[in-house]
Amino acid sequence: MKIAVYPGSFDPITLGHLNMIKRAAKVFDKVIVCVMVNNSKNAMFTLEERLRQVTLVTQRFPNVETDCSDMLSAEYARSVGANVIVRGLRAVSDFEKECQMALINKKLNPDLETFFMPASEKYMYLSSSGVRELAAFGADLKDFAPREIIDEIMLRAAEKKKK
Ligand code: ADP
Repeated sequence: MKIAVYPGSFDPITLGHLNMIKRAAKVFDKVIVCVMVNNSKNAMFTLEERLRQVTLVTQRFPNVETDCSDMLSAEYARSVGANVIVRGLRAVSDFEKECQMALINKKLNPDLETFFMPASEKYMYLSSSGVRELAAFGADLKDFAPREIIDEIMLRAAEKKKK
């Protein structure tokens, strides 16, 4: 069975991430979307909240599972018997960082391959930080974030503004 791990911060999960998950689920027998610990000061959601959101919006894909981890992606992949990591490439600017990470992961776990998928044209510009910023301005998120979690994002953005 070909198992792939799609690791990320997903703070919050966007329609760009969801598009990647849908496409990866067609290629691999099982895709595990793994929400990684995120130490960024600008974090919007906790690990538990992000995992809940990712689980909610991927429940319609039968071969997609969700999890969270504080391990390195390469170690996590090994622990679940996956030999592929899926990552998305938007602009050239993603390439350098992603390539470096893929090489480090290969060093940590030589059985591991990283598969890059280009962002769909529609979501090329989309990032979690963009969604957080739009939410802070009260913008309509329907073209950017899964509809099930839009209210939650708007609420959190409004709470953060009050602080
Ligand atoms: P990280 O903090 O690990 O970069 P992210 O949640 O920002 O986590 O992204 C997880 C993965 O999804 C990364 O490989 C990133 O390049 C990819 N990604 C993010 N946004 C998009 C998008 N709009 N289209 C395709 N891939 C994306």
